[in-house]
Amino acid sequence: RIVATHGSPPLTSAPLSTRGLHMKVGFIGLGIMGRPMALNLLKGGFDLTVWARRAESMAPLLAAGAQGAGGPAEVAAACDVVFSMVSDAADVEQVALGAGGVADGARAGLIFVDMSTIAPAAAQAIATRLSERGVSMLDAPVSGGEVGAISGGLTIMVGGDEAAFEKVKPMLVSMGKSVTLIGGSGAGQVTKACNQILTGVTVVAVAEAFNFARKSGVDAGKVREALLGGFAYSKILENHGQRMLDRNFKPGFKAWMHQKDMNIVMQEAHRLGLMLPNSAATAQLFNAMVGSGMGEEDSVAALKLFERLSGD
Ligand code: NAP
Repeated sequence: RIVATHGSPPLTSAPLSTRGLHMKVGFIGLGIMGRPMALNLLKGGFDLTVWARRAESMAPLLAAGAQGAGGPAEVAAACDVVFSMVSDAADVEQVALGAGGVADGARAGLIFVDMSTIAPAAAQAIATRLSERGVSMLDAPVSGGEVGAISGGLTIMVGGDEAAFEKVKPMLVSMGKSVTLIGGSGAGQVTKACNQILTGVTVVAVAEAFNFARKSGVDAGKVREALLGGFAYSKILENHGQRMLDRNFKPGFKAWMHQKDMNIVMQEAHRLGLMLPNSAATAQLFNAMVGSGMGEEDSVAALKLFERLSGD
């Protein structure tokens, strides 16, 4: 396990090869998370080539010194390592294996690192197909949200080949403060699914508790303040709780994305014959958020569902 403090200079006195700076790096998908992550690669001194579907997503990276490419195959042709941060499994598959995808432009030995949150089985299937084309894939989903993406403080959980992991470690360290190789292909996504069980259930629990406080005639802000000092403390109570109090529903992390992640969890539960009752209830709530038009809002808007069902 590597724990790096972003902004500290542990790698700067090392030779270029151990810092990974001799490698050309690509980044595909420059949304809420991908844009600041790619910027941190640039700040880390990496020679960066980027591509996004929309020109306006690419503009800040080009202004900061990255080169632009015309598509995933062009990124791959220019690079030794290609990162992707898109939405769901179908998008990763399209970027990696679709027409004009990474595999079409890759030289043998290219490392493809997908940092999106997708199903473990999907990550394994894409890795197998890429390996037939000479490309080694790591699944490296993240936790820490937009704030962690901007600060370089993400938690990065990796599945795949250890030698490939060692090569891309300097890049991962420039985006995250905790970088862990968990196991083989798909293991990073399994870890991320565990993360989403914990964060999803907790966001919903905070919304439920705040609504309970309010309906009981008690100030939810005072409840949060008091509980932050006790056993119920969590970062989610602190950060997401504050956003609920501020009624700041701007994403952040879109509700439809959390629905996607709980769907991954429920599919795995079905495949493995597992009972996950708390995840199931949380998944239903995110379904209702999307169905009632809140999909593009942050998942903290779960609070509004509780309010609506409480006679408000
Ligand atoms: P986002 O803002 O919607 O960004 C996703 C980007 O991927 C968009 O710019 C989108 O392009 C691009 N994209 C999607 N499908 C594509 C395709 N088929 N080909 C090319 N580009 C494609 O989402 P995000 O919040 O950055 O999330 C990205 C991933 O990180 C998701 O898997 C999410 O679950 C995960 N994640 C998010 C957070 C968070 O707090 N936001 C935290 C941890 C993990 P367009 O702009 O053209 O649509």
